[in-house]
Order: sequence, then structure tokens, then C-alpha cells
Amino acid sequence: MPVSFTYSARELANKLKRFSTSALPIDAGRRGSCNRCGECCKLPFPCPFLRYDADGLSSCAVYHARPPSCRKYPRTVHENVTPETCGYYFVDVKDIGIGPAATEQAGG
Ligand code: SF4
Ligand code: SF4
Repeated sequence: MPVSFTYSARELANKLKRFSTSALPIDAGRRGSCNRCGECCKLPFPCPFLRYDADGLSSCAVYHARPPSCRKYPRTVHENVTPETCGYYFVDVKDIGIGPAATEQAGG
């Protein structure tokens, strides 16, 4: 029986892009915080380290060893592929002056 891939070429390309840019800094305009929705850990397929507690909040089973692409997600507005649910958002720092960047991703 053939293996069924449910992710699209675009989702895979986004994943590869986030991996390849993960050494770059987080955009200074990032604001907000991780609400532990876990959506970023499902693209292009659910990560085997993704966990959910009884309240439906996500966590990472390898949190302290998770890769930079996870720690920095979403690094830029263009790399945010879960804007509908993600607790982070981006502002234009030219309009407000450069302030502190948001904290690292906390959820799964
Ligand atoms: S943060 Fe953890 S659970 Fe989420 S994709 Fe990264 S390794 Fe997987
Ligand atoms: S970084 Fe965003 S998409 Fe990922 S778990 Fe946190 S709130 Fe959800």
C-alpha cells in the first residue's frame, strides 16, 4: 500500500526555510507570547515530541534541547505560518522605536 503524504510541497518548503534561517536573529518587531496552541509543531506533520496536557495546552518533550527553528518560531512575520492561532505578532519597529524582542516559544 502506498504511503499517503498529507502535507503540501508549500508546507515542506516553509519548514525547510525556517530550518535554514534559524541561525538568524528574531525580528525586533516581534511581540506577544506563546499561548501553547501547538500548531507550529504540526507542520508539515505532527512532531513526535509534541505533548498536550489535560487542559489542551501543548508542551515539548525535548524542550531544553529543541532546535533553534523551534526556539525562535515565529522568527519573522514571513515565517509565521500559523498567524490564526499563534500568540506572537509583529509590529513595524520604524513606527515605534526598537524595543525588547518577545521571549522564546514556550509551548510545544
Ligand atoms: S518545539 Fe518540540 S514538539 Fe515542537 S516541533 Fe520542536 S521539537 Fe517538536
Ligand atoms: S509559537 Fe505560536 S504557534 Fe507555536 S505553540 Fe506558541 S503560540 Fe502556538
